[in-house]
Amino acid sequence: MKLYNTLSGDAQEFAPADGKTVKMYVCGVTPYASTHVGHALSYVAFDALRRYLEYLGFEVRHVQNFTDVDDKIIQRAQEQGIEPDELAEQYIDDFYETMDGLNIQRAHVYPRATQEMGPIIETIQTLVDNGSAYQAGGDVFFRVTKKADYGKLSHRTLDGMQAGARIEVDENKEHPMDFVLWKGARPGEPSWESPWGPGRPGWHIECTAMAVTYLGATLDIHGGGQDLIFPHHENEIAQSEASTGEVPFSRYWVHNGLLILGADKMSKSLGNLVSVKEALEKYTPDAIRLYFLSSHYRRPLIYTDEGCNAMEQGLHRLREPLIRPSGGSTPLNFEAFEQRFFEAMDDDLNTPRAIAALFDLAREINRDYATKDVSTAQECLRHLGGILGLTFEKKKPPLNIGAESYNAMLRDLRAKLTEAGQSGLAGLISDAEVAGADTVSEPDIDRLITLRAGCREHKQYALADEIRDWLDRQGVSVEDSAAGSIWAYRPRS
Ligand SMILES: [Zn+2]
Repeated sequence: MKLYNTLSGDAQEFAPADGKTVKMYVCGVTPYASTHVGHALSYVAFDALRRYLEYLGFEVRHVQNFTDVDDKIIQRAQEQGIEPDELAEQYIDDFYETMDGLNIQRAHVYPRATQEMGPIIETIQTLVDNGSAYQAGGDVFFRVTKKADYGKLSHRTLDGMQAGARIEVDENKEHPMDFVLWKGARPGEPSWESPWGPGRPGWHIECTAMAVTYLGATLDIHGGGQDLIFPHHENEIAQSEASTGEVPFSRYWVHNGLLILGADKMSKSLGNLVSVKEALEKYTPDAIRLYFLSSHYRRPLIYTDEGCNAMEQGLHRLREPLIRPSGGSTPLNFEAFEQRFFEAMDDDLNTPRAIAALFDLAREINRDYATKDVSTAQECLRHLGGILGLTFEKKKPPLNIGAESYNAMLRDLRAKLTEAGQSGLAGLISDAEVAGADTVSEPDIDRLITLRAGCREHKQYALADEIRDWLDRQGVSVEDSAAGSIWAYRPRS
């Protein structure tokens, strides 16, 4: 497959260095607030990349960090009157929960900065020893002038950076672009012992130490959002190459475009965040994934409720053909769609085109199922969707149907069927059912769909419509076709 590499500035044929195992490091979150949909966009993109590389037969070794000591964590913890590690723990739990909710495969290792002080301090010591870093006051800085190719990822020169950057004046620094590796302790903040006195690591050095510890001196893929290219990833390269002596630190640099909420880039300072939990209350994980992947990963994406709703509707068109019964014996030809899907994925993970191929395959199954054998085409659709992490499950939004209303509806239905002389149909509703359920779940909806089909078969159309209307009021839509009835959660607006 071809993959765009920020370092080279073009798409290149991708293969891991050893031909087998892809060493992939993706920058993780700073756990000080709820995981938001901007994070989700990035991790869904890297999940799709990982799933596709695994499909291609590579083994992917995925490492992703938690920056669990940081100014923002310390500040937020002080505001809440709790310890920083308690706050971090809380949001790390939130992170796992939301990633699982979105069907994002877990990384193999999630190192945390606070648990990696040994490797972090050793890396800084190496940099000090070889002249790439210097101590000034209680801090240690990286000496950017020592790295001749500093700026190669963001394609900028030191002079260009200075012209464009808002530089903090720090008289301890030799050069304005030098960046901190170790920050001397300040009162009331967590700190660790080091050869330069108590303190804590800078953000960039954590990623270098963790990536090298868990994946070695040369990565195949380093990923993150485009907002991390400079300074974070530029600095990671400088530190890593200067400490290990291996060039390049990462063979491929893969960056996703950012999520835009309304007119502004999603940023915490604007207070316009949507948490993944909020999104998952409204939409199925499949709809959110499909929405993110319907835009190419390198483009920015504007997040809107309309967009998510449209995907929820679209999913209905993908799920429906999966349960169609085959009406003929000639197999439906699906190879052309499969080929289009893979060609798109090979082209720098062009998921919008891959998704278009999925929808076309779904349409083909819907059109021809009555006269052809669509079973292998259905398997193909499910398999290709799986590469994008789609489950085709109607998991959420949760049913919000009161048991009382459901029980009353069944009682009413049985009475009306008896009255209409349909004792056979009425007999399908047991005394236990009429006595009532405590909760209503998906099998209960399936049950109603079956009863409704019975009503239609016996020409009790008014009762069939009553069932459909009742379901509609509960937010469940029913669609009839030659193959039977299908129900779906109606997206909420
Ligand atoms: Zn990082």
